[in-house]
Amino acid sequence: MAEAIKIDTLDVELKEAVLDKVPDANFDLCLTCGTCTGGCPASEQFGMDPRKLIRMLNFGMDEEILKSDWKWVCSMCGRCQLACPMNINIPKLIYNIRARMVREKRPKGILGSCDQHIRTGSAMGAAKEDFEFTVLDVAEEIREDHPGFEDLEVTVDRVGAQMVLNQNSREPVTEPEEMGPLWKILHLVGADWTYPSVMWAGENYCMFLADDEGWRYIIEEFVLHVDNNLKSPLVVNTE
Ligand code: SF4
Ligand code: SF4
Repeated sequence: MAEAIKIDTLDVELKEAVLDKVPDANFDLCLTCGTCTGGCPASEQFGMDPRKLIRMLNFGMDEEILKSDWKWVCSMCGRCQLACPMNINIPKLIYNIRARMVREKRPKGILGSCDQHIRTGSAMGAAKEDFEFTVLDVAEEIREDHPGFEDLEVTVDRVGAQMVLNQNSREPVTEPEEMGPLWKILHLVGADWTYPSVMWAGENYCMFLADDEGWRYIIEEFVLHVDNNLKSPLVVNTE
């Protein structure tokens, strides 16, 4: 017969380390109901799901948790926590598990996108000059070829606009015309908006990489540009 697990002698180092950073994460309150798992898009990948993760954490199975690649397929959507009757902060747990890995050993795609964003202002590595050229070029095409939009206004770094809008960098790099529909809506409702040239891309892979420093740098540069240079009161994040 298998020996019973003695709860008071479990070594739960990982759980305690995460609780140091997220004191209200409530891992001990898990009812094992599985509601988190029912709505999780990453359930069953790599044989893992959020309910199982919390069980393993509470049983001190740190090594198994840390070596599983499941932590990288979580989309950080937060659905598990919203559904959880005990409000257990699973995304913060996963973030902290990711952050324990050596930065250079984290997945290349996410790492590269984070580094490109820090270096160039967008995860796709598009320079701000290229972004501005593409945006103005596509806007000109729309003014010329789309009846009803002859006076469409699209600007970059216009000082004093009512709102600053960021832009996922995939569109200007791979499908520039896909930016047009949103511009047309903004035009039709009379929105007063501009793109920023600094940290203009709306994505932030440093968050998914669990790179606090990179994540903060991107946001700070963006906010400083909006506040100090553009002097706009409102930001709309399109991501
Ligand atoms: S929904 Fe909350 S209480 Fe239920 S299994 Fe998931 S973490 Fe535990
Ligand atoms: S945050 Fe991660 S674990 Fe939670 S539901 Fe989304 S994908 Fe699943």
